[in-house]
Amino acid sequence: MSTPSYNVATGVATALAGFRLPEQLGFGNVAAPVMFAANCTAGSWGRGELLPYGPIEILPGARVLQYAELVFEGLKAYRVGAAAWPNLFRPRDNWLRLTRSATRLSMQPVPEELFMQGLDAVAGACERLIPRRSSQSLYLRPFLFGTEASYQLRNSTSFRFMVIANPVEIYSTGPMRVAIERRDVRATAGGVGEAKAAANYAAALRASTAATARGYPMTLWLDAQEHRWLQELSGMNLFAVIGGELHTPELDGAILAGITRDSLIRLARHLGLTVHERRIALDELLAKLQTGECSELFACGTAAIVSPIGVLGEADGVEYAPRSVDVVAARLREALLAIQERRAADPFGWTRDVAPFEIAVRPAAGAVERGGAPWHAHVYYLPEERHRADALRERFVGLRESGAEPQLLFVGTLRDTQVGPHVVPQFEVHFTSDLVPTVESLVRESGLTTLVHPLTADDLADHTTLGRWLGTPLPLDLSTLDPPGTNQGFARFGKTDF
Ligand code: PMP
Repeated sequence: MSTPSYNVATGVATALAGFRLPEQLGFGNVAAPVMFAANCTAGSWGRGELLPYGPIEILPGARVLQYAELVFEGLKAYRVGAAAWPNLFRPRDNWLRLTRSATRLSMQPVPEELFMQGLDAVAGACERLIPRRSSQSLYLRPFLFGTEASYQLRNSTSFRFMVIANPVEIYSTGPMRVAIERRDVRATAGGVGEAKAAANYAAALRASTAATARGYPMTLWLDAQEHRWLQELSGMNLFAVIGGELHTPELDGAILAGITRDSLIRLARHLGLTVHERRIALDELLAKLQTGECSELFACGTAAIVSPIGVLGEADGVEYAPRSVDVVAARLREALLAIQERRAADPFGWTRDVAPFEIAVRPAAGAVERGGAPWHAHVYYLPEERHRADALRERFVGLRESGAEPQLLFVGTLRDTQVGPHVVPQFEVHFTSDLVPTVESLVRESGLTTLVHPLTADDLADHTTLGRWLGTPLPLDLSTLDPPGTNQGFARFGKTDF
């Protein structure tokens, strides 16, 4: 079993085992049961920790509370389809953007390895609760904030990096009603600008709240200097279809460099569409909506992917509606989502697997008393049998999660193990001795060309049975697999005739 390079707090296994995915997810209403945290003091990052999700302690004078010293990110882990393993979409771009945001606020950036570790820990631990239906996912929210209690106007000397998560539906309200905001300003180049800083979102709250009350759940922002040029919506970038081509405001130092925006630009060009990144005046857009030259408007971001705009509304009640809604947008949404959900090829190399999460769950003393000594078994399988192995693992997980089998202590994830020169896929189960017959029969029923055997520190490299299973004919001595007096003798089945 691999040891994670971060701590796993007591209570994580219980929090994960006790979590039930509700039918209704919404966007951000359901919190994942675990979170990740790491602290930085005097420029040096400590070891990260995976914890049960819950309240955190912070000094009231902490600079995040006094001066909004906070930057954040948002990305999704997808696991769509019966046998899918979770994957992340362009996580390195989120790390790069968090680094740029942190640098703008003079905060200590998060090292790439720590950032990825936080994502992998949370998404890996929550693997089972990532919904499998298309357009559902696990939304990951990494954030960094200043924890030093101080009123001095300089950056903190201590920081915390955290990752929380939510199983979510795609963020969708149908065609959006968007309010044009001509008075308040959200972000300025030279100010906190394009940083994904909490302060920019705070600046948007007054107008967004008022617009929502008038029936426009989204707000369209204009530039701070002239109140003339289109920027973006409060949490999404904007596209217009003009003369059949895509137009989007160019990044001007105040617009968030959306990863979905960038992905759509590249994908659209790949699909043969013309894309312009340019300054777009609100007047031009409204005029072209009226003539019909601008046929469609949509917004994009991690939460909604691509969301059509049905109406742009002025404060005085005048409204502008594009003549088509969700035509080009729907095509792009499906093309991008198919890559994100790995239903289509990924010519850009945008997705990457979540690292498997494994923790050694020590059986509670009670379980051992009730169920006998703890055992563990590794179920090795052939690479082409992954579906069957996954199905078997699901059966174990089902038993464990339903509470029907308290003696099943732990079910690991499917992962590749290096055995000498071989890469061998396997997963691991821990159970008490009473459960040996159940495990035996479940493995038999699975039809895997499998090998279940004990794992000791020295058995993998030269294990005779494993060597044989890998195609190297080696003498087999079952007695070496069943050392008397240990809890590890378990080498009994499979189609191989050992
Ligand atoms: N603009 C703003 C203000 C946002 O908050 C977001 C969401 N992160 C976006 C645009 C879209 O960015 P992305 O595609 O990276 O999610």
